[in-house]
Amino acid sequence: MTTQQAPPEKTDAETVIRTENVTKRFGGLVAVDSVDMHVDHGEIVGLIGPNGAGKSTLFNCITGTLPADEGHIHLRDEEITGWPEHRIAGAGLGRMFQQTRVYREMSVRENLIASAQRNNRFLAQFRRPDEATLDRADELLAYVDLDGLADVRAGRMSFGQQKLLEFAMALMADPEILLMDEPAGGINPSMIEQLLDYIRETNTEEDVTILLIEHNMDFVMEIADRIYALAHGERIAEGTPEEIQSDERVLDAYLGRE
Ligand code: ADP
Ligand code: MG
Repeated sequence: MTTQQAPPEKTDAETVIRTENVTKRFGGLVAVDSVDMHVDHGEIVGLIGPNGAGKSTLFNCITGTLPADEGHIHLRDEEITGWPEHRIAGAGLGRMFQQTRVYREMSVRENLIASAQRNNRFLAQFRRPDEATLDRADELLAYVDLDGLADVRAGRMSFGQQKLLEFAMALMADPEILLMDEPAGGINPSMIEQLLDYIRETNTEEDVTILLIEHNMDFVMEIADRIYALAHGERIAEGTPEEIQSDERVLDAYLGRE
C-alpha cells in the first residue's frame, strides 16, 4: 500500500510582506479599507488603481509612515504593526517616494552616503563613512550610470536622474524588499526602459523583492509577476497581468463605470 504524501504547503517563510485587514481612515474617509495582500520572496508585485484609490496610503501604513487604524502587518515572521518607520527600515524594508526626496544641495555621492547613515543617526555624528559605505556608493553610482555626476549637486540633475539617484539611495541599505511609489512617473520614455532593466536586475541579481505602485499600465504589465488593484480603498482584484487586464472590476474602476 502506498501512502500518498500531501503536497508540501507553501509556508509563510516565503512571504516577505503580509497585510491583514489593514484599514486607514482620514476623518470620515476610508482611504484603505480592510486590505489583505502579500508579497513573496523574489516577486515583483504591482499595485494599481485610479488616483485616490489608497495606494500611497497603504504604502505609508506598511512602512510605518502612518499608523494603520486596524489590521496587522508582518515583515517575514515578525509583526511590525505599530513599529516606527526607522525600525521597519532597519528590518529590511526600503522605500522610494512618489516625490523624490534627494538632498538637493548635496552632491550625488553625498546623498548616497547620507542615505546609508539615515538609519543610524547617532553613529553618524561621530563616524566618518567607512570604506565599505564609500565603495558601495561608488558601485551603485556606476550601476545607475551616474558615476560621471558623482560630485554634481543633486538638485541640478534632471527629475529622471534624481529618481535613479533615489533608487540607488534605497539600495544602499541592502533592503530585502523595496517599495517603489510610481517610479516611472514623470520620467522620459528612454529612461523608463533603463529603469525597467534596473528593477529587473535588482530583483534577480541582488535578490531584492519588489512591490511597486505604477500609473503607467504598460510599465506595470511588463514588469509585474502579480498585480493587486485597489479602488476606493478596497482591494478589487488580484492576479497575473493578463488576468488583471481583462478583469471587469478593474476596467470599471479605470473607466469610471460603476
Ligand atoms: P493614491 O496613492 O492611490 O492616489 P492616496 O493613498 O494618496 O491615493 O489617497 C487616498 C485617499 O486618501 C484620497 O482621497 C486622499 O485625498 C486621501 N488622503 C491621503 N493622504 C491623506 C492625508 N494625509 N490626510 C487626509 N486625506 C488623505
Ligand atoms: Mg499615490
